[in-house]
Amino acid sequence: MDTYLALVAAILGLVIGSFLNVVIYRLPRHESLSRPGSHCPGCGQPVRWYDNVPIASWVALRGRCRDCGERIAWRYPLVEALTGACFLAAFLVYGLGWHTLQLAAFLAALVAVAFIDLDHRIIPDRIVLPGAVIGLVTSIALHPSRWWVYAVAGVGAAAFLLAIGLIWSGGMGFGDVKLALMMGFVLGSSVVVAMFLGFLAGGIGGIVLIALGVKKRKDKIPFGPFLAAGAAVASLWGPSIIDWYLRFV
Ligand SMILES: [Zn+2]
Repeated sequence: MDTYLALVAAILGLVIGSFLNVVIYRLPRHESLSRPGSHCPGCGQPVRWYDNVPIASWVALRGRCRDCGERIAWRYPLVEALTGACFLAAFLVYGLGWHTLQLAAFLAALVAVAFIDLDHRIIPDRIVLPGAVIGLVTSIALHPSRWWVYAVAGVGAAAFLLAIGLIWSGGMGFGDVKLALMMGFVLGSSVVVAMFLGFLAGGIGGIVLIALGVKKRKDKIPFGPFLAAGAAVASLWGPSIIDWYLRFV
């Protein structure tokens, strides 16, 4: 039964990931998310339903449009696989329940935010602001006696990034501040782990990108994807990481 449910979680993640590809492409361009249906950017032909199956279709078509042969970026199956893995991990760590549902929605929002920031250097209000409200409301519903932990975590994380942005110009954007608000409202005390991992990954990632010559020292590197990755890890294993750390010190 658990194996069956795990499979359902993974497939649901793949399908949501396919929708996130649409969100990542269209939301920053202010296009409708529902109309028109998916079409090839090369020839404009609508994508047939059997060519729209997550990952499998991309593999079967060897990453090319059936009509014109235009390349379909490997990013599309990657986003689907990543979302599938996130949903599977959420189910394996927390089982079936309301918390897992909240977590899955949070992880989906993080995937969309990370890739939109990567492409456009913006963190869309249309995701993080409703995300923050829904995050706080659902956290209070799930943990009524500890509501203040989530409120303080969100406001604290946002204030921390705002302070860094003010002190160190060119670092943090206001989008990162709003992302941190959503993160704290969902993660509660685990937001500390998310911020630590985000800064660690951002620092290492920045050094690697500069060393590889992909980025110059003066280039701005979007911080959103690193924060989102830290938040994803913290949402799944935050309490275990805190326990491990406290035992370590
Ligand atoms: Zn085409």
